[in-house]
Amino acid sequence: MVEPASGGAVETKMTSMGQPAIEETGWERSLAAAIRDPDELIDRLRLEDALRPPARRAAELFPLVVPHSFLNRMRPGDAADPLLRQVLPLGVELHATPAFTTDTLSEDAARRAPGLLQKYQGRALLIAAGACAVHCRYCFRRHYPYAAEPRRSDDWEPALKLLAEDRSLSEVILSGGDPLVLSDRRLGRLFERLEAVPHLRRLRIHTRLPVVLPERVTEALVELLVGGRLQKVVVLHANHANELVADAAVAATRLKDAGVMLLNQSVLLAGVNDCADALADLSERLIVLGVWPYYLHQLDRVAGAAHFEVPIERGRELMHELRRRLPGYAVPNYVQEVPGRPYKLPLV
Ligand SMILES: *Cc1c(COP(=O)(O)O)cnc(C)c1O
Ligand code: SF4
Repeated sequence: MVEPASGGAVETKMTSMGQPAIEETGWERSLAAAIRDPDELIDRLRLEDALRPPARRAAELFPLVVPHSFLNRMRPGDAADPLLRQVLPLGVELHATPAFTTDTLSEDAARRAPGLLQKYQGRALLIAAGACAVHCRYCFRRHYPYAAEPRRSDDWEPALKLLAEDRSLSEVILSGGDPLVLSDRRLGRLFERLEAVPHLRRLRIHTRLPVVLPERVTEALVELLVGGRLQKVVVLHANHANELVADAAVAATRLKDAGVMLLNQSVLLAGVNDCADALADLSERLIVLGVWPYYLHQLDRVAGAAHFEVPIERGRELMHELRRRLPGYAVPNYVQEVPGRPYKLPLV
């Protein structure tokens, strides 16, 4: 039923002329048009040529993907731009760093069925898609074996059967990859199957698309989200206030106005948001948009992302400063994912 939209959620169909015609909606066109060539990114932002060779090499290990909407929120000529830092492949990614590995979260141990992970009581996570609209260089799933996950409709049956049988579950989390790269048709069919499971109450969607490809938040998607019996919770993923402007702010407002519960999670990232001003601005921006700051994650120690790590002690100092400056509801929970724990470990 749900297939990973690897390489973009573009569906092709043969015309009467026998020529493949691409049937895409606006957002699918935007996704297909995302920048995938490091040189193009560097040209567009008029960055220095020295960045090219390392960017090309690092992108061979984890390809570059940046939608134009996200690019438009970066400052040209500024290699330190906090949005650019999240997506620009760097030579340091190629340096091996002890303790930074390819399965940092021992996710294999949490696998209950193909495409279904459970680590915590009452909540199970479906790897609903193997693709994303953006590639974040710090991503803990950059080495994830998506190819081994279900692809065709039938492959999903064991996971759906388990969800239907396990009455201890009340919430299904759609993750990936990014579940919103799936077409509305596929999402709709998945929602229908989950709606039919009586003990499920909530459907949570972890997505970066409203932020990096806001075109995805169409009227049709909003209708899908507000329809049906299950309560929908959308967890956005923004790391810096500059991400939440222009069309991304419009997309968040659309979801909010439709009555979708909106949360945000971010990752504490060196050079992106590791100062009190950046974190406070992010929280302020989220609250203005009606989005609750939910989690601030300590970076997972994934190979290639060591240069993003902020020491936990520094993270605690930043949280202390945030608490001093912001109302309690604007302060996220600073947590770390530790394998084998019954919940994400609070660090404060
Ligand atoms: C992070 C995570 C969740 C969600 O945990 P919450 O604390 O409820 O946000 C659920 N399942 C898995 C496998 C996770 O990694
Ligand atoms: S899973 Fe999330 S953090 Fe990782 S690359 Fe995709 S959008 Fe970025």
